[in-house]
Amino acid sequence: MSIIHIENLSKTYASGVTALDGVSFDIQAGDFFALLGPNGAGKSTLINVLSSLVQKTGGKVAIAGHDIDTHSRQAKLHLGVMPQEINLGVFDKVLPILINQAGYYGVPKAIAKKRALDLLDRLSLSDKADQVTRSLSGGMKRRVMIARALMNDPDIIILDEPTAGVDIEIRQHMWDFLKDLNKAGKTIILTTHYLEEAEQLCDNVAIIDRGKLVCQSDMPSLLRHLDCEQFVLYLSEPLQNLPDIPELSIRQIDSLTLEVDVPRDLGISRCLYHLCKANILVQSLRNKTNRLESLFLKLTKREGL
Ligand code: ADP
Repeated sequence: MSIIHIENLSKTYASGVTALDGVSFDIQAGDFFALLGPNGAGKSTLINVLSSLVQKTGGKVAIAGHDIDTHSRQAKLHLGVMPQEINLGVFDKVLPILINQAGYYGVPKAIAKKRALDLLDRLSLSDKADQVTRSLSGGMKRRVMIARALMNDPDIIILDEPTAGVDIEIRQHMWDFLKDLNKAGKTIILTTHYLEEAEQLCDNVAIIDRGKLVCQSDMPSLLRHLDCEQFVLYLSEPLQNLPDIPELSIRQIDSLTLEVDVPRDLGISRCLYHLCKANILVQSLRNKTNRLESLFLKLTKREGL
């Protein structure tokens, strides 16, 4: 069942900027869905239209079957939204923030308190319940905002760049938490410009660029567009002359650094195997290209597919 229906959605701000230009797609119930796009693509605008923070200028949006123009209140009851900007009152304490949020949706206080304590526990924030948000780290504030988005027990959770600026350990913890929510049946929609995040979490993806839908796809099909990745390899020992390795397209940058193009069907371990056979030992490596950028280049036809 389609839980979100977006049809020909447009938004032109008063400044004259067209942030969304005739976007149409559907999201199915239970999906873990990524909205991908570079900065300024229109992702936040789209999310803000869904959550009624921004008035669309054209098109139609239905959430759980409720048209947001005619049944905005019913539509909102299905949504929990975590915005991109941290918007917690600096002198507000964590537990009251959560309980008050539930209050806006008419959740009785006793139920709200139980729900809040449970969420704080699952997000490893129990010891922060009585602290003012000013004393929390950025990662903790983001987790409080996730908890706040869940206080009305929504069936659709929208997160705008949930892990921006969050360190790797906390990011992993947040990912696990979101995966559990999805397994429990929640539809999750997130925006990100980290392809890795979308790849780790999401089943389906829409890419927008300059206000237009560039593609909608399941994740494995999308990744098939990345037919080749470039890696920088740092060698254990200096290499004088690069031997010919017919299986690999490889360039020597300096005596300790190589660059290699790794076709998707070869994979990095086969590549390392061929190097090892030629007595070239790799100390460490990194992705040379931003994979999401490569995808955009291909999908937006700035480079042929
Ligand atoms: P993203 O979330 O993908 O980075 P946004 O939706 O924030 O993209 O922005 C899309 C475009 O709309 C950008 O050109 C941005 O400058 C513009 N924009 C966003 N919000 C506003 C606003 N409140 N008023 C005018 N222009 C805006």
